[in-house]
Amino acid sequence: MPYEIDETHDPNLESWVESANDPATDFPIQNLPLCCQLDGSFAGVGVRLGDHVVSLADCLVEAENHGFNSKFDSVGLTDPFRAATQFWSLTPGQRMMARRAVVAMLNADSPARDDISANSIEEGQVGPYIHPEPFDDEMLKVGDYTDFYASVFHATNVGSMFRPDNPLLPNYKHVPIAYHGRASTVVPSGTDIVRPIGQQAPTEDGGSPGFGPSKLFDYELEVGVVVGRGNELGTHIPIEEAEDHILGLCLLNDWSARDLQKWEYQPLGPFLAKNFATTVSPYIVTMEALAPFRTPAYERPAGDPRPLPYLTSDANTAHGGVDITLEVHIFSKQMRSKGMDPVRISKGTFKDMYWTIAQMLTHHSVNGCAMQPGDLLGSGTVSGKARDSRGCLLELTWDGDSFSDPPVLVPGTQRTPIRLPTGEERKFLADGDEVILKGYCEREGFRRIGFGECRGIVRPARQI
Ligand code: MN
Repeated sequence: MPYEIDETHDPNLESWVESANDPATDFPIQNLPLCCQLDGSFAGVGVRLGDHVVSLADCLVEAENHGFNSKFDSVGLTDPFRAATQFWSLTPGQRMMARRAVVAMLNADSPARDDISANSIEEGQVGPYIHPEPFDDEMLKVGDYTDFYASVFHATNVGSMFRPDNPLLPNYKHVPIAYHGRASTVVPSGTDIVRPIGQQAPTEDGGSPGFGPSKLFDYELEVGVVVGRGNELGTHIPIEEAEDHILGLCLLNDWSARDLQKWEYQPLGPFLAKNFATTVSPYIVTMEALAPFRTPAYERPAGDPRPLPYLTSDANTAHGGVDITLEVHIFSKQMRSKGMDPVRISKGTFKDMYWTIAQMLTHHSVNGCAMQPGDLLGSGTVSGKARDSRGCLLELTWDGDSFSDPPVLVPGTQRTPIRLPTGEERKFLADGDEVILKGYCEREGFRRIGFGECRGIVRPARQI
């Protein structure tokens, strides 16, 4: 694998930026996720550290001055759009060199801590290139967006509801399934989500479709894969090189209107049920930072077909998975008004996805499709076998179990609602509900790193 465990993953490393040493932070010095800073205290590529965002360009310039050679021209990093494309396109080796330079500058023993100069810093800054976390001005800039369907548990559950006699279509175990989404509706965490309007599946066979605000409004817990270096149109990214082309991962909420989806999805796949909004977390946790948390690819049960050779490599089989714990929390309007905390409603893991991130990227390009820096691939809803690891309400409140033997198939309308601490019940999302996705990686002997949060509040539908 191109991303090695090195001194930047030492669990004993601390930073002279104190907030990075809080055991509860998602952003210790071992993480250093990337973001795009559009304006505010600086523009360009930022690196999150504790409660602060470090200007990568300024930090690398200072690193050069201190003799920590990143061998990287950081001048272009000050233009957030150009910089992203430029930095995203580096090789893993170049990115690891930049990571080592940043750690050399920001660790607790660095000579750079003496750079702190009271007269060169603004309110909230702890150093000349280290700014307070701005909350509003940052976002992840994405190019094209494609959403996969890589959890066999999700695919089987959903298939059991929509097609009880034929849950998992025969192509699923051979070809990574996806549909093209729209980059124009990918929004940063914190953006309000207006309940979509559309045609809805008739309630009885042969009936007329309904029309209006979605009544079966849902989230989907997913991981976003951000493409680093691209490939030329007409070429493809071999499986052995796929990870060289991946910049890192983020959290992604593929908001879904199930009543629209059920009516429109055949024969061409999701359309208006999905493309009104997709929320992403603002930080890209790099593949470099994730090196300690790699796992074998999901072990296919005996009897499942092997992937075709173009989707197979020894390294992918041995290390293609990523062990990320993922959680969904709900925060209703009533919970907020009563001063309660959000409540966790599910917890799952990314390591049991049927297809790996390398397989998704290789498959996407195998026909000659050009992938570009910043393109976003959604993993598909991350669901596990256990009921409390199902990554959307469509599955979580469903009473069926497609994995029992023989399968118990309960009609999709029969649901047990989840109960919130206020006594409110939910089969699907209500207006005012905030959905909060969280993700983190833990492994004995390494510092825990996190993804931050991916949040959005459901607002009432427009009047039309
Ligand atoms: Mn999805």
